Amino acid sequence: MSAETTSIENKSEDARVMVWWDIDNTLYSANTKISQAMGEKIGAYFMTLGLDAKEAAELHLKYYTQYGLALAGLVRHHNVDPIDFDKKCDGSLPLESMIRPNVALRQLFLDIDRSKARVWALTNAYRPHAERVLKILQLDDLVEGIVFCDYAESDFTAKPEHTYYHKALAKAGITDPSKCYFVDDNRRNIDAARELGWGHCVHFCEAGLENVEGGQVRKIGVDREISTSNGVEVVSDLQELRTVWKEIFRNP
Ligand SMILES: [Mg+2]
Repeated sequence: MSAETTSIENKSEDARVMVWWDIDNTLYSANTKISQAMGEKIGAYFMTLGLDAKEAAELHLKYYTQYGLALAGLVRHHNVDPIDFDKKCDGSLPLESMIRPNVALRQLFLDIDRSKARVWALTNAYRPHAERVLKILQLDDLVEGIVFCDYAESDFTAKPEHTYYHKALAKAGITDPSKCYFVDDNRRNIDAARELGWGHCVHFCEAGLENVEGGQVRKIGVDREISTSNGVEVVSDLQELRTVWKEIFRNP
């Protein structure tokens, strides 16, 4: 399931399309409250910098907004060790008691016609968290590669920075972005993919539920998020992909 290994082997471009899945808050519902737990861990980490709660919250939101990932700001401006951050934040979440395998979701992955499509994950998490979530959800054997935010690199980037998408295509050996299918719960990530010509973008939007982004609780599905403009489809249930992307499923 190694992105690096796959890219090395991939000398000639694969004719199949690529289906990219975001992981967090896409492969499991916002009602798991994992984003709230994650937000609390990250907020506590900001306070270890000597900030009070208000300052920590402001900086957390600022970096999340600026870089797509609070950690990117912590590394760039506070010399934080990203591996230590990952251990204390994502790595300390009791995920095994928060999410469980989803039979219908596994069947959705099984029903993708692999003669037509490859299936990779595209996440802002570091590799251990990404692999852990996929394993708990029992999807790890159905995901062929993971493009993760590589905290071990000094200049790592994350969605929605365009550089991150360029790196993802390079890792997967894709030269034509129109062959990309992509589903993510974060509208900014989807809009960035559309700007880069990714062909089939779906915003997974559980309107009415709450999640935490950049340390702030927010209602999902407000403002432009539910818009289908710019060629973006919006779904509230991943099973709708069977219809939206019917050409890549075996049993439409
Ligand atoms: Mg997400």
